[in-house]
Amino acid sequence: MRELTKKYGGTRAVDRLTFTVEPGHVTGFLGPNGAGKSTTMRVLLGLDAPTSGEALVNGRRYTSLRRPLHEVGALLDANALHPGRSAYNHLLGLALTNGIGPTRVAEVLERVGLAGVARKKAGGFSLGMKQRLGIAAALLGDPGVLMFDEPVNGLDPDGVRWIRDLMRSLAAEGRTVLLSSHLMSEMALTADRIVIVGRGRLIVESAMKDLTDAY
Ligand code: ADP
Ligand code: ADP
Repeated sequence: MRELTKKYGGTRAVDRLTFTVEPGHVTGFLGPNGAGKSTTMRVLLGLDAPTSGEALVNGRRYTSLRRPLHEVGALLDANALHPGRSAYNHLLGLALTNGIGPTRVAEVLERVGLAGVARKKAGGFSLGMKQRLGIAAALLGDPGVLMFDEPVNGLDPDGVRWIRDLMRSLAAEGRTVLLSSHLMSEMALTADRIVIVGRGRLIVESAMKDLTDAY
Protein backbone atom coordinates (compact mmCIF):
# COMPACT_ATOMS: atom_id res chain seq x y z
CA MET A 1 0.00 0.00 0.00
CA ARG A 2 1.35 3.41 -0.86
CA GLU A 3 -0.57 6.48 0.35
CA LEU A 4 -3.76 4.47 -0.09
CA THR A 5 -6.94 6.47 0.50
CA LYS A 6 -10.50 5.21 0.16
CA LYS A 7 -13.44 7.51 0.79
CA TYR A 8 -17.10 6.52 1.04
CA GLY A 9 -18.91 9.82 0.68
CA GLY A 10 -17.52 11.93 3.51
CA THR A 11 -15.97 8.96 5.36
CA ARG A 12 -12.26 8.33 4.95
CA ALA A 13 -12.30 4.57 5.50
CA VAL A 14 -8.59 4.42 4.61
CA ASP A 15 -6.45 7.51 4.96
CA ARG A 16 -3.03 7.72 3.24
CA LEU A 17 -2.07 4.24 4.39
CA THR A 18 1.43 3.04 3.52
CA PHE A 19 2.79 -0.35 4.54
CA THR A 20 4.36 -3.47 3.08
CA VAL A 21 3.58 -7.13 3.75
CA GLU A 22 6.44 -9.61 3.31
CA PRO A 23 6.40 -13.27 2.27
CA GLY A 24 7.17 -15.95 4.84
CA HIS A 25 5.45 -14.07 7.66
CA VAL A 26 2.05 -13.80 9.23
CA THR A 27 1.40 -10.08 9.25
CA GLY A 28 -1.26 -9.13 11.75
CA PHE A 29 -3.51 -6.27 10.65
CA LEU A 30 -4.85 -4.92 13.92
CA GLY A 31 -7.33 -2.19 14.66
CA PRO A 32 -10.75 -1.62 16.23
CA ASN A 33 -13.93 -2.16 14.22
CA GLY A 34 -14.24 0.55 11.59
CA ALA A 35 -10.47 1.16 11.38
CA GLY A 36 -10.40 0.36 7.66
CA LYS A 37 -9.00 -3.19 7.60
CA SER A 38 -11.70 -4.75 5.44
CA THR A 39 -11.68 -1.80 3.08
CA THR A 40 -7.92 -2.12 2.64
CA MET A 41 -8.28 -5.82 1.82
CA ARG A 42 -11.15 -5.15 -0.58
CA VAL A 43 -9.05 -2.59 -2.44
CA LEU A 44 -6.06 -4.96 -2.54
CA LEU A 45 -8.33 -7.61 -4.05
CA GLY A 46 -9.76 -5.22 -6.62
CA LEU A 47 -13.27 -5.43 -5.13
CA ASP A 48 -13.22 -1.68 -4.50
CA ALA A 49 -11.31 1.03 -6.35
CA PRO A 50 -8.93 3.27 -4.41
CA THR A 51 -9.86 6.96 -4.20
CA SER A 52 -6.15 7.76 -4.45
CA GLY A 53 -2.81 6.08 -3.86
CA GLU A 54 -1.83 2.54 -4.69
CA ALA A 55 -2.61 -0.96 -3.47
CA LEU A 56 -0.51 -3.55 -5.27
CA VAL A 57 -0.24 -7.31 -4.84
CA ASN A 58 2.73 -8.94 -6.57
CA GLY A 59 3.33 -5.52 -8.10
CA ARG A 60 -0.07 -5.65 -9.78
CA ARG A 61 -3.40 -4.00 -9.42
CA TYR A 62 -6.21 -6.55 -9.41
CA THR A 63 -9.78 -6.05 -10.48
CA SER A 64 -12.76 -8.21 -9.53
CA LEU A 65 -12.70 -9.57 -13.08
CA ARG A 66 -8.98 -10.21 -13.14
CA ARG A 67 -7.65 -11.74 -9.94
CA PRO A 68 -5.86 -15.04 -10.58
CA LEU A 69 -6.63 -17.61 -7.87
CA HIS A 70 -3.10 -18.99 -8.13
CA GLU A 71 -1.75 -15.60 -7.06
CA VAL A 72 -4.08 -14.49 -4.28
CA GLY A 73 -6.74 -16.05 -2.10
CA ALA A 74 -8.92 -14.41 0.50
CA LEU A 75 -11.45 -15.11 3.20
CA LEU A 76 -13.62 -12.04 3.60
CA ASP A 77 -17.05 -13.09 4.74
CA ALA A 78 -18.01 -16.62 5.67
CA ASN A 79 -21.70 -15.79 5.25
CA ALA A 80 -21.26 -15.38 1.50
CA LEU A 81 -22.15 -19.03 0.93
CA HIS A 82 -25.01 -20.68 -0.92
CA PRO A 83 -26.79 -22.59 1.88
CA GLY A 84 -28.18 -25.28 -0.42
CA ARG A 85 -24.86 -26.12 -2.06
CA SER A 86 -22.49 -28.79 -0.78
CA ALA A 87 -18.97 -27.94 0.36
CA TYR A 88 -17.60 -29.86 -2.61
CA ASN A 89 -19.81 -28.05 -5.14
CA HIS A 90 -18.90 -24.64 -3.73
CA LEU A 91 -15.28 -25.33 -4.47
CA LEU A 92 -15.85 -27.19 -7.72
CA GLY A 93 -17.70 -24.23 -9.27
CA LEU A 94 -14.88 -21.88 -8.36
CA ALA A 95 -12.26 -24.42 -9.49
CA LEU A 96 -13.77 -25.06 -12.90
CA THR A 97 -14.17 -21.36 -13.75
CA ASN A 98 -10.50 -20.93 -12.90
CA GLY A 99 -9.02 -23.90 -14.74
CA ILE A 100 -8.48 -25.95 -11.56
CA GLY A 101 -9.34 -29.66 -11.49
CA PRO A 102 -11.38 -31.75 -9.01
CA THR A 103 -8.26 -33.40 -7.53
CA ARG A 104 -7.27 -30.04 -6.09
CA VAL A 105 -10.78 -29.59 -4.65
CA ALA A 106 -10.39 -32.85 -2.74
CA GLU A 107 -6.92 -31.78 -1.60
CA VAL A 108 -8.04 -28.48 -0.07
CA LEU A 109 -11.08 -30.08 1.57
CA GLU A 110 -8.65 -32.51 3.19
CA ARG A 111 -6.33 -29.71 4.31
CA VAL A 112 -9.12 -27.80 6.06
CA GLY A 113 -10.59 -30.94 7.64
CA LEU A 114 -13.87 -30.96 5.67
CA ALA A 115 -13.25 -34.09 3.54
CA GLY A 116 -15.73 -36.06 5.66
CA VAL A 117 -18.58 -33.57 5.09
CA ALA A 118 -17.76 -32.63 1.48
CA ARG A 119 -21.22 -33.69 0.24
CA LYS A 120 -23.14 -31.97 3.03
CA LYS A 121 -24.90 -28.65 2.45
CA ALA A 122 -23.03 -25.60 3.70
CA GLY A 123 -26.27 -24.19 5.15
CA GLY A 124 -26.07 -26.78 7.93
CA PHE A 125 -22.45 -26.02 8.79
CA SER A 126 -21.32 -24.44 12.06
CA LEU A 127 -19.55 -21.08 11.86
CA GLY A 128 -16.21 -22.86 12.24
CA MET A 129 -16.99 -25.18 9.34
CA LYS A 130 -18.09 -22.21 7.22
CA GLN A 131 -14.80 -20.50 8.00
CA ARG A 132 -12.95 -23.65 6.94
CA LEU A 133 -14.88 -23.76 3.67
CA GLY A 134 -14.05 -20.11 3.00
CA ILE A 135 -10.41 -20.85 3.74
CA ALA A 136 -10.52 -23.86 1.40
CA ALA A 137 -11.72 -21.50 -1.37
CA ALA A 138 -8.85 -19.15 -0.59
CA LEU A 139 -6.34 -22.03 -0.81
CA LEU A 140 -7.81 -23.57 -3.96
CA GLY A 141 -5.39 -21.99 -6.43
CA ASP A 142 -2.37 -22.66 -4.15
CA PRO A 143 -1.69 -18.88 -4.05
CA GLY A 144 1.43 -17.21 -2.70
CA VAL A 145 -0.59 -14.41 -1.11
CA LEU A 146 -3.42 -14.93 1.36
CA MET A 147 -5.70 -12.48 3.16
CA PHE A 148 -7.98 -13.44 6.01
CA ASP A 149 -10.43 -10.90 7.41
CA GLU A 150 -11.25 -11.60 11.07
CA PRO A 151 -11.15 -15.39 10.63
CA VAL A 152 -11.32 -16.22 14.35
CA ASN A 153 -14.45 -14.15 15.09
CA GLY A 154 -16.99 -16.27 16.90
CA LEU A 155 -14.90 -19.47 16.87
CA ASP A 156 -14.46 -21.76 19.87
CA PRO A 157 -10.95 -22.28 21.33
CA ASP A 158 -10.28 -25.34 19.13
CA GLY A 159 -11.24 -23.39 16.03
CA VAL A 160 -9.05 -20.46 17.07
CA ARG A 161 -6.09 -22.80 17.62
CA TRP A 162 -6.67 -24.48 14.28
CA ILE A 163 -6.65 -21.14 12.45
CA ARG A 164 -3.50 -20.10 14.30
CA ASP A 165 -1.65 -23.29 13.29
CA LEU A 166 -2.84 -22.99 9.70
CA MET A 167 -1.69 -19.34 9.43
CA ARG A 168 1.73 -20.29 10.72
CA SER A 169 2.14 -23.25 8.41
CA LEU A 170 1.11 -21.14 5.41
CA ALA A 171 3.78 -18.59 6.32
CA ALA A 172 6.34 -21.36 6.90
CA GLU A 173 5.63 -22.52 3.34
CA GLY A 174 6.87 -19.09 2.26
CA ARG A 175 3.47 -17.53 1.56
CA THR A 176 2.48 -13.97 2.35
CA VAL A 177 -0.24 -14.01 4.99
CA LEU A 178 -2.22 -10.91 5.98
CA LEU A 179 -4.52 -11.59 8.92
CA SER A 180 -6.90 -8.96 10.27
CA SER A 181 -8.25 -8.91 13.80
CA HIS A 182 -9.37 -6.46 16.47
CA LEU A 183 -7.83 -8.69 19.18
CA MET A 184 -4.25 -7.88 20.25
CA SER A 185 -4.13 -11.05 22.37
CA GLU A 186 -4.77 -13.18 19.29
CA MET A 187 -2.25 -11.26 17.19
CA ALA A 188 0.49 -11.70 19.77
CA LEU A 189 0.05 -15.49 19.50
CA THR A 190 -0.27 -15.76 15.73
CA ALA A 191 1.52 -12.95 13.92
CA ASP A 192 5.24 -12.24 13.75
CA ARG A 193 4.80 -8.85 12.14
CA ILE A 194 2.12 -6.32 12.92
CA VAL A 195 0.48 -3.34 11.30
CA ILE A 196 -1.81 -1.36 13.61
CA VAL A 197 -4.40 1.01 12.14
CA GLY A 198 -6.96 3.41 13.60
CA ARG A 199 -9.43 5.62 11.72
CA GLY A 200 -7.91 4.48 8.45
CA ARG A 201 -4.41 5.59 9.40
CA LEU A 202 -1.21 3.71 10.15
CA ILE A 203 -0.30 3.77 13.85
CA VAL A 204 2.53 1.20 14.06
CA GLU A 205 4.31 -1.14 11.66
CA SER A 206 6.68 -3.42 13.55
CA ALA A 207 8.07 -6.87 14.19
CA MET A 208 5.77 -8.39 16.81
CA LYS A 209 8.77 -9.18 19.02
CA ASP A 210 9.86 -5.53 19.16
CA LEU A 211 6.37 -4.51 20.21
CA THR A 212 5.91 -7.19 22.88
CA ASP A 213 9.48 -6.69 24.24
CA ALA A 214 8.74 -3.00 24.66
CA TYR A 215 5.69 -3.56 26.91
P1 ADP B 1 -12.73 -2.64 9.72
O1 ADP B 1 -12.58 -3.74 8.73
O2 ADP B 1 -11.42 -2.22 10.32
O3 ADP B 1 -13.77 -2.93 10.75
P2 ADP B 1 -13.97 -1.20 7.53
O4 ADP B 1 -12.99 -1.16 6.44
O5 ADP B 1 -15.06 -2.22 7.45
O6 ADP B 1 -13.22 -1.33 8.93
O7 ADP B 1 -14.69 0.22 7.66
C1 ADP B 1 -13.95 1.44 7.70
C2 ADP B 1 -14.93 2.62 7.65
O8 ADP B 1 -15.51 2.69 6.36
C3 ADP B 1 -16.08 2.51 8.63
O9 ADP B 1 -16.38 3.80 9.09
C4 ADP B 1 -17.20 1.97 7.77
O10 ADP B 1 -18.46 2.32 8.28
C5 ADP B 1 -16.93 2.60 6.43
N1 ADP B 1 -17.37 1.79 5.29
C6 ADP B 1 -16.88 0.56 4.96
N2 ADP B 1 -17.48 0.10 3.83
C7 ADP B 1 -18.37 1.06 3.45
C8 ADP B 1 -19.31 1.18 2.38
N3 ADP B 1 -19.45 0.22 1.45
N4 ADP B 1 -20.05 2.32 2.32
C9 ADP B 1 -19.92 3.29 3.24
N5 ADP B 1 -19.06 3.23 4.28
C10 ADP B 1 -18.30 2.14 4.39
P1 ADP C 1 -19.79 -16.36 -8.63
O1 ADP C 1 -20.43 -15.32 -7.73
O2 ADP C 1 -20.05 -16.17 -10.08
O3 ADP C 1 -19.97 -17.78 -8.13
P2 ADP C 1 -17.34 -15.89 -7.26
O4 ADP C 1 -17.76 -14.62 -6.60
O5 ADP C 1 -17.29 -17.13 -6.47
O6 ADP C 1 -18.23 -16.10 -8.56
O7 ADP C 1 -15.93 -15.67 -7.94
C1 ADP C 1 -15.68 -14.64 -8.85
C2 ADP C 1 -14.18 -14.46 -8.98
O8 ADP C 1 -13.68 -14.00 -7.71
C3 ADP C 1 -13.43 -15.76 -9.24
O9 ADP C 1 -13.23 -16.00 -10.61
C4 ADP C 1 -12.14 -15.56 -8.54
O10 ADP C 1 -11.17 -14.95 -9.37
C5 ADP C 1 -12.47 -14.62 -7.42
N1 ADP C 1 -12.58 -15.32 -6.11
C6 ADP C 1 -13.64 -16.00 -5.61
N2 ADP C 1 -13.37 -16.50 -4.40
C7 ADP C 1 -12.11 -16.14 -4.11
C8 ADP C 1 -11.25 -16.36 -3.00
N3 ADP C 1 -11.62 -17.05 -1.92
N4 ADP C 1 -10.01 -15.81 -3.05
C9 ADP C 1 -9.63 -15.08 -4.12
N5 ADP C 1 -10.39 -14.85 -5.20
C10 ADP C 1 -11.61 -15.38 -5.20
